[in-house]
Amino acid sequence: MKDYKIETKCVQGGYTPENGEPRQIPIIQSTTFKYATSEDMGKLFDLEANGYFYSRLQNPTCDTVAAKICELEGGSAAMLLSSGQAASFFAIFNIASAGDHVVSSASIYGGTYNLFAVTMKRMGIDFTFVDPDCTEDELRAAIRPNTKAVFGETIANPALTVLDIEKFARVAHEAGVPLIIDNTFATPVNCRPFEFGADIVTHSTTKYMDGHGGAVGGCIVDSGKFDWMAHKDKFPGLCTPDDSYHGITYAERFGKEGAFITKATAQLMRDFGAVQSPQSAFLLNLGLESLHVRMERHCLNARKVAEFLEGHEKIAWVNYPGLKSSKYYALTEKYMPNGTCGVVSFGIKGGRPAAERFMKELKIAAIETHVADARSCCLHPASSTHRQMTDEELTAAGVPSDLVRFSCGIESYEDLIADISSALDKA
Ligand SMILES: *Cc1c(COP(=O)(O)O)cnc(C)c1O
Repeated sequence: MKDYKIETKCVQGGYTPENGEPRQIPIIQSTTFKYATSEDMGKLFDLEANGYFYSRLQNPTCDTVAAKICELEGGSAAMLLSSGQAASFFAIFNIASAGDHVVSSASIYGGTYNLFAVTMKRMGIDFTFVDPDCTEDELRAAIRPNTKAVFGETIANPALTVLDIEKFARVAHEAGVPLIIDNTFATPVNCRPFEFGADIVTHSTTKYMDGHGGAVGGCIVDSGKFDWMAHKDKFPGLCTPDDSYHGITYAERFGKEGAFITKATAQLMRDFGAVQSPQSAFLLNLGLESLHVRMERHCLNARKVAEFLEGHEKIAWVNYPGLKSSKYYALTEKYMPNGTCGVVSFGIKGGRPAAERFMKELKIAAIETHVADARSCCLHPASSTHRQMTDEELTAAGVPSDLVRFSCGIESYEDLIADISSALDKA
């Protein structure tokens, strides 16, 4: 699949059936797998042979779909998880422990912010949040001797800031740590962060990848490029023997290409069990088969809606990275020349109450804590997903209290604009 274009990989990646085998990926709905001898099974436990023994660690259906996403991102190894939250948690916790520190863009998904700033902090991992538009020197100043990773979102949900991936990668690599990118909003169809120096990519597959509001899921992809052994002291979990896994040293045994995902599977998945179900993986794969077609329409609809809103008298401001007026337009041209995402954010004159009236009047777009669905939906983050944050924190995260997030589906943009227009008239 390596030499094919992304469209072909979306449809056919990850699975090449042999003669007489099912054309669609089989759902292996089995918790366990049978072996002839204890010795056969022992080899699996020692990670000496490839194979399956228990679906809490690995399942063939999930691995098939992970392999497709791996091809889409251009990575070396990948794993599916139960949710995007699990993916973010595993990606960091795989290389950071109590006493360690991580630098993250402040402009990230509300759930991820909470995970980092509250829950992982309770586990003893400290986070410094930086402005995604900070200078290279400001970013450098946030790095500490115990920093283990730098984190950001390609296009942030819901602020829609665009990350200068190369800048973040440069500073991370100077400090001898990997750059982890949440690529949920852009998807590999529109941006492949590894091509710009990112080392690990995470996804909430719940969003565009599934795309039909059918299954919650997450994914981690490793670029296979980060040299853990060159920074041995920083990453003892990868570069020294794992006593809980027969004394294996992941970075030695599995190299740059396999160490990160093998450790996250053999150790974190074993202990936390945040697996995606094979049924969900099957649904995810159906979504992936049309990802490239849907992304094009999501982006077209969002651009049309954003352009309409930009000229409307009741709209205070519009933020869509694909708009020429966006301050991120130059970064967008560099990182996502074919399109960004289907989400547009804007402020309605009259603030909070006007936003609430407007949303109530919409007929096509439903109020949901969801985005990136084939059906249009919208949300007022300050009163829902981000309600745990103060007004100052909201502003710092790029989510002012009047912000409405509108996720354009793949309906007709003419219908969407007519619906928005009539709701604005009534608001
Ligand atoms: C939704 C989302 C997540 C969390 O994913 P879940 O699948 O809901 O756990 C993480 N990052 C981004 C950018 C998201 O939009």
